[in-house]
Amino acid sequence: MARIKNNVQKILSELPAHVDLVAACKSRSAEDISEAIDAGVKIVGENYVQEAEEKFSAIGSLVKWHFIGRLQKNKVKKAVRIFDMIETVDSVEIAAAIDKACAEIGKVMPVLIEINSGLEKNKSGILPVDLGNLIKDLLGFKNIKIAGLMTMGPLLKSPEDYRHYFRETKKLFDKIKSAIDIKYLSMGMSDSYRVAIQEGANLIRLGTAIFGPHQ
Ligand SMILES: *Cc1c(COP(=O)(O)O)cnc(C)c1O
Repeated sequence: MARIKNNVQKILSELPAHVDLVAACKSRSAEDISEAIDAGVKIVGENYVQEAEEKFSAIGSLVKWHFIGRLQKNKVKKAVRIFDMIETVDSVEIAAAIDKACAEIGKVMPVLIEINSGLEKNKSGILPVDLGNLIKDLLGFKNIKIAGLMTMGPLLKSPEDYRHYFRETKKLFDKIKSAIDIKYLSMGMSDSYRVAIQEGANLIRLGTAIFGPHQ
């Protein structure tokens, strides 16, 4: 019963002070999430706006809410009310929709630009070659603040295999940071977060390591 609590406390005790934990909560119950929050989770990550809406009405602003899924344009209006950060911006179209919806409610949304670090076809995230142009476009939006980068990397077998993709994303992060004030580098999931932290992540997104395997 105290499994989630133990997991969270162990993870938090091992994290360097500069690294923030996002609990990836897709399909987890409000009860399980509450247990994680009681144990010290301060940021909740959600992949689906509708699911987040239900949980938000139960949990509210006890925690920060990060959107970590693929955002559909028709969900943006709801999303900007719930979320404190959108980690997955990868096109000027979705950025424009976020900017417009935020302008309507007088909010400035911190966003991370999602990088397709594996250079994979049909994968979310922007290719590194297109990053400069996207940043230029985003800087024109008053109701968006570029707060950093996020990457998933390809689906790989061993944690060590992720290192290359995390390292490449960190290089992009450093390059941008020399020009604009960004703070967050979101990389690493349950199987890869230790490698991600070694490679410079300061935001990690853990689901399985906190809640156990999906049923
Ligand atoms: C589900 C999810 C995670 C967490 O994955 P685990 O392997 O369960 O830790 C992290 N990031 C994103 C974007 C996810 O969708």
